[in-house]
Amino acid sequence: MIMSSIKKTKSKIKTKSSLKPPKRKKENLSELRQDLISGDWVVIANSRGKRPDDFKTETKVSEKSSVESCLFCDPIASGQEKDVLIYNTADDDWSLRVFPNKYPAFTRPTGKIHHQTEGPYFWMDGLGYHEIVVTKDHFERIGTMENLKVAEIFDAFQTRYLDLMNKKSVRYIEIFHNQGKQAGASIFHPHSQLVAIPVISPYVKLELKGADRYYKTNKKCVFCDIIEWEMEEDERVIFENDKFIAICPFASRRAFEVWVLPKEHQPYFERMETEDKIQVGEALNEAVRKINTVLNDPDYNFYLHTSPCDGKDYPHYHWHIEILPKTSIWAGFELSTGIEISAIEPEKAAKSLREA
Ligand SMILES: [Zn+2]
Ligand SMILES: [Zn+2]
Ligand SMILES: [Zn+2]
Repeated sequence: MIMSSIKKTKSKIKTKSSLKPPKRKKENLSELRQDLISGDWVVIANSRGKRPDDFKTETKVSEKSSVESCLFCDPIASGQEKDVLIYNTADDDWSLRVFPNKYPAFTRPTGKIHHQTEGPYFWMDGLGYHEIVVTKDHFERIGTMENLKVAEIFDAFQTRYLDLMNKKSVRYIEIFHNQGKQAGASIFHPHSQLVAIPVISPYVKLELKGADRYYKTNKKCVFCDIIEWEMEEDERVIFENDKFIAICPFASRRAFEVWVLPKEHQPYFERMETEDKIQVGEALNEAVRKINTVLNDPDYNFYLHTSPCDGKDYPHYHWHIEILPKTSIWAGFELSTGIEISAIEPEKAAKSLREA
């Protein structure tokens, strides 16, 4: 993430008559593209001449994972903490459960947060909540399950979010999902996580700032403008239903990056209605299914970005999901500059995902 000087954005979304952009495409030339929201730069390294097939994951040699030794197939028997939420099926089995992480990244608060200084340094207690959302089936993952089951996962996210957001000292709740070892999943059994923390993450802060800046100049939400432009141009859209759209973003940081956004302006994820959950379930399921088809089941991460729950209003932000397949690793250039290199144009990636 870089705090680059951000090019002043004049009103970009124009009426249809003025839509024709100047020819951007020059085969085999790299492009530096700027993320309209964060101001970050990415390199689209066309000169590497890669095709969608070049990003396919090699077929994995049987993942070592048995139901018998799984910690999440029977969380109670394996000594996980007590559920904070459970969904049952019609025949009295469970379908989804949420419980506190046994090894949390943040310590559950029992009192006030202490803010301390130590010479030139500052630190505070790492207090927060860290929960695991587990679906019943050991092998059934997003992308292979029924849409309604993914909707149930979103219902669980929302239910837990609404509870955690009211806890003292929680200012942001990150919801994410790691799929596969390379994406950081240490347990094979499909699961997502919620981490409620006392600070707003730098990435979200940057997006909030960018959205505010764009609004000041254009009197419109930057995400709404992006959605409008993408629907009009139809070059980077990979899926849409009535309420959600999935696109490969113009300034994709990584090959085959996908965003899923509500088409209507919605700053707060937690205010989703039942129909939204059904439709986002379908959109995420479809996006992941397409990624799996084109890239041969790659490891990936997805996460939600939504307005902080710190008691302030964020009318110009627009919640969304970002999916990042593991198609590259950060090396010296990325680590030193914060500029990621995507070795395929998002337009080409979108085309193959759309057709999958
Ligand atoms: Zn399992
Ligand atoms: Zn919006
Ligand atoms: Zn975001």
